[in-house]
Amino acid sequence: MKIKALKGFKDIVPGEVELWQRVETVARDIFTRFNFSEIRMPILEKTELFARSIGEATDIVEKEMYTFVDKQITMRPEATASLLRAYVQHGLHVQKPIQRLFTIGPMFRHERPQKGRLRQFHQMDVEVIGASNPRVDAELMAMGAMLLEELGVTVTLELNSLGCPACRPGFRETLLAFIEDRYGSLCDDCMRRSTTNPLRVLDCKNHSCRVQVEEAPSIQEHLCQECSDHFSVVQAGLQQLGVSYSLNKFMVRGLDYYTRTTFEFITGDLGAQAAVGAGGRYDGLIEQLGGPKVPGVGFALGIERLVLLLQQKDGVETAQGEIDLFIAGLGEAASEFVFPLVHALRQKGLRAAMDYEGRSLKSQMKQANKAGARYVLIIGDNELEQGQAVLRDMQSQEQAEIAIDQNIIEMTQLLLQRIAKTDTC
Ligand code: ATP
Ligand code: MG
Repeated sequence: MKIKALKGFKDIVPGEVELWQRVETVARDIFTRFNFSEIRMPILEKTELFARSIGEATDIVEKEMYTFVDKQITMRPEATASLLRAYVQHGLHVQKPIQRLFTIGPMFRHERPQKGRLRQFHQMDVEVIGASNPRVDAELMAMGAMLLEELGVTVTLELNSLGCPACRPGFRETLLAFIEDRYGSLCDDCMRRSTTNPLRVLDCKNHSCRVQVEEAPSIQEHLCQECSDHFSVVQAGLQQLGVSYSLNKFMVRGLDYYTRTTFEFITGDLGAQAAVGAGGRYDGLIEQLGGPKVPGVGFALGIERLVLLLQQKDGVETAQGEIDLFIAGLGEAASEFVFPLVHALRQKGLRAAMDYEGRSLKSQMKQANKAGARYVLIIGDNELEQGQAVLRDMQSQEQAEIAIDQNIIEMTQLLLQRIAKTDTC
């Protein structure tokens, strides 16, 4: 019996991994342009960290966490809590009043696996800690939009404000009164939520609940003056940076720690898994985790969903590592000569490969083709004796002779460089 990977856990194999690398390279480049530094945290954390930050009455903490109950530790379901734990633990606020940090890695949630929804998935997460200025919120969203645009992924940005501890309770009451009248028509989840977390009723995916809350009051109209001013500057900032967005009064997010700005990057191309990224502001959270009283704002992009979008757009691009040079050694003496030559060329920075099975020239040429070799250097026992190897350009099929002497490494390198130059001209 073959052993398969767990349901919802996926291998990323050659052919697909190149798209992952592309996503991560573009992201790292953009994060660096926006002056973010990388941080890496462990995957296991104390369960309490997530219960305290994400919130006890959230889907993630109630039913999606992978927890070792006897040890009270949990595989992180998201990055923000761990990142803030590290920030507090290392006193990073002392080093710099504003920390701009990013991290890339796997997260774990026990959800129902489907397209774009896995149990181990990967996020690229960015956080700005220590800045309350609403322009920072706008800048972060603009950065997300820039990244997605650079990847060629089309999304819309949806924006809301969830207020703060001063104004949210008032809205909660108003909303509760609205919900009470419609209680009987809500789904079981929403009936339960309306006491623990009534705002979640607003973003229930159930069609009948959606119909019921269509006319629900908007939190945007119940913000206190400070939250309202903050929200106005966020929107003005987006306009200044040329980022289009739409307001969505139903977006409340599934994590309790958000205050004020919340946003999602939404695609129409992934069915139910519409969010490719999401985030917002969490001004009380760092203090709640035993840290200094500093504000924060951030978001995370899901790599699986981005890769799916790229695959849908480009078709699967499987430019699997083309190599510069394949050296076909024919016969025992030639193979013996080729073995250290390949190594020396790799030391010089070339992507080089050879055959180890003593195959025929025809079969080695096939191998070279499959590996996407740009050039093949043919060295047979005869060639070795005559002191001449043949370099074949696999695109033009032209051939040149190279002397087999102590300069062969330099000569090969030089020839390849020369041809590479004419390639790019
Ligand atoms: P969703 O509404 O799709 O469940 P979420 O609100 O739970 O998403 P967040 O916790 O905000 O997601 O995580 C940010 C991003 O991480 C999401 O926008 C999505 O791209 C990605 N993501 C979240 N959960 C998963 C998952 N189970 N599989 C793949 N990607 C995910
Ligand atoms: Mg979710």
